[in-house]
Amino acid sequence: MSRTPAIDPDCCIGCEVCTQVCPEVFSMQDSHNGHAHEKAVVHNPTGAPEAKIESAMDNCPSACIYWV
Ligand code: SF4
Repeated sequence: MSRTPAIDPDCCIGCEVCTQVCPEVFSMQDSHNGHAHEKAVVHNPTGAPEAKIESAMDNCPSACIYWV
């Protein structure tokens, strides 16, 4: 079983970097519960090779993306 990525929503600043680096896995989701910013979500955990997912992790300015 391979690792899958997850995002800490409290940490995400909505910069969209992960969705640009790896759109197969990450997408932005409107927040309707009072948060000021859009948050990134994992919409397809196995949508890209681990190396590409890891590149998104490495480029996240807040280091919110982790393996589970
Ligand atoms: S790169 Fe990090 S801070 Fe930026 S949208 Fe993705 S999870 Fe959020």
